Amino acid sequence: MLEGLFIDNKGPYAYEMRDETSHIEGYSLSSPQPDPAWSHVDTQGHFHAFNLENGGLALPTLIYNEYGVPHCAICNEFVEPHFLAGGITHESIPGPKRVSITVPRYNRDVNHGDRVSFYTREMFGIAKVTGFHFIGTFDGKSVCLDLACEFIVKRNNDL
Ligand SMILES: [Zn+2]
Repeated sequence: MLEGLFIDNKGPYAYEMRDETSHIEGYSLSSPQPDPAWSHVDTQGHFHAFNLENGGLALPTLIYNEYGVPHCAICNEFVEPHFLAGGITHESIPGPKRVSITVPRYNRDVNHGDRVSFYTREMFGIAKVTGFHFIGTFDGKSVCLDLACEFIVKRNNDL
C-alpha cells in the first residue's frame, strides 16, 4: 500500500496502483546475410567469396542461370554460397499508458463515471471512477474506490 494520494485536493489516502499499460508485441524478419567467413575453391581452382564492400555484385565470381542457380563465372561449376540465417527480431512497444488506482478507505461521496483530479508528491493526473464498493473496517464502513487514469504524469519533486 502506498501513502499520500490526494483526490480533488482531499486526503491523503492510502492507495494501490497498478500499471496496466499493454505492450504491442512485434516481430520482424531480417533477411539472410552474406557469411563473411564463407569462401570456396571449386574443382577448377577458382576462388569464390562474397564481396563485402559496398557496391558491386555481392558474388562477383558467380553467375546465375535462368533458374537462379549460381555457377562459377569461368567454368560454370555449381557453387552454393553460404548465407547466415536471418533472425527473428522481437520488439515490445508500450501502448498508451494505462494505470489504475484503488483507494480502499475513501470517505467522500462519489459516483460511477465521475472524473477526479489526483496528485501525490511524485505525480498527478485525472482519473475516472470505474467502480466503488463498501468495505467493512474496524471503525465502520468505508468506500473502496477504483479509478482508471486518463493520464498520469510525473511532477516536480520540489514541494
Ligand atoms: Zn570455376
